[in-house]
Amino acid sequence: MEITVLGAGRCVTGSKYLLQWKRHSALVDCGLFQGPAELRRRNWAPLPHPAGELGAVLITHAHIDHSGYLPRLCRQGFSGPVYCTPPTLELLRVLLPDAANIQEEEARYANRRGYSKHQPALPLFRMADAMAALRLLEPVPFSSWRELHPGVRFRYSRQGHILGAAAIELDTKGREGDRKAIFFSGDVGRYGVPILRDPEPYPGSDVLFVESTYGDRRHPTSDPRAALVEEIRAGLSRGGVIVIPAFAVDRTQELLYLLHEAVVEGELPAIPTWLDSPMGIEATALYSRARAEHDAEMRQYFAEGANPIFPPNLGVTPTSSESRKLNDLRGPAIIISASGMATGGRILHHLKLRLPDPANTVLFVGYQAQGTKGRRLVDGEKEVRIHGEWVPVRAAVRQLGGLSAHADADELIAWLSRRSSEPATVCVVHGEYEVQQAFAARLSEEFGWRPQIPDLGDVIVV
Ligand SMILES: [Zn+2]
Repeated sequence: MEITVLGAGRCVTGSKYLLQWKRHSALVDCGLFQGPAELRRRNWAPLPHPAGELGAVLITHAHIDHSGYLPRLCRQGFSGPVYCTPPTLELLRVLLPDAANIQEEEARYANRRGYSKHQPALPLFRMADAMAALRLLEPVPFSSWRELHPGVRFRYSRQGHILGAAAIELDTKGREGDRKAIFFSGDVGRYGVPILRDPEPYPGSDVLFVESTYGDRRHPTSDPRAALVEEIRAGLSRGGVIVIPAFAVDRTQELLYLLHEAVVEGELPAIPTWLDSPMGIEATALYSRARAEHDAEMRQYFAEGANPIFPPNLGVTPTSSESRKLNDLRGPAIIISASGMATGGRILHHLKLRLPDPANTVLFVGYQAQGTKGRRLVDGEKEVRIHGEWVPVRAAVRQLGGLSAHADADELIAWLSRRSSEPATVCVVHGEYEVQQAFAARLSEEFGWRPQIPDLGDVIVV
């Protein structure tokens, strides 16, 4: 078998691995490149293999950098099954149409403003392409083997990174009947975080593709709830509204959980809280319903008839008229809305309204990428441009660390340490190149491995 790295090679996005054996082929993950323009340009290129000849696509989890190229693949004639875990299927039904909306809106906006080099500006894919991709989804339960082709089968193991996130173990039979196991980590989650079950450890394989997003870093060991409580108390003392920009999937649910836990522990009053994100509301419902994915504490809450991510003090505003009513809201109150880095979505309306008043608080959760409005605010800019208007920043702008959906370097090492066999080939993927080098060095130090860091287009022969 030949495995060509078509994404997440010396970068963190665009995850795509082309598997070819005999006259057959399949894709593991089908992600969009995100971030710098020179990477995003790659999203326009056709797959370097006829899409119509691909037998199947295996998705590890619903994040767009692992699934967002599916609509484009369908446009290129792919019609085979797209395998994913059942919760990933549910999330993709929310995320892919949303991604199509964003694409179509951006193209319309570019055409109105005439700022695109390409005339007219086109969306990367349309709603119809997203719908075509959704029709191909086929759920495969965790832990059960599924035959891809005689002699080639795969199964999913839970990785706790987001709802439904999985690693893929591929089992292939060679000409002489010898078997080879190829393991794709997907994105690995963290141990002991709320809501979802812990990642299942790496079992050992002949070939290993391991992610390395935080391969050179250690997450802060401080309790994220304590830090959150401190920020919320400071926000309450300012007297205004606390606005929290948060990713709709996973981060929002973790925040809701921690806020509720703080109420249960008597650390905070039950502050009126509003979830103002249609995708966040749907994702919260999916996280609530996915009982099989809940960890012991989450199950305990449900056994007692409580839902910690949908507590009585939480209100939701799915429609835009309900969302607009939040403009009259006075503190103390919390508004959670997307996007997490204030790059678009309803959060912009709240920021425009709340930033000029020093009684209000804007609390960012987690990393803010260079060039985003979130980053400019966290960096202390006194004025930001929202919807074409300059808005003075007088509200307190705060940032909370410690919440991450990715394992850090130590957690990845712990995750790899319970294997029952040694991999002969190790590929470090899904990381910035310097981070990957640091993580590869750590792997050789700890385990005596000789990891490769494949670049885009590199081929690994199994
Ligand atoms: Zn991910």
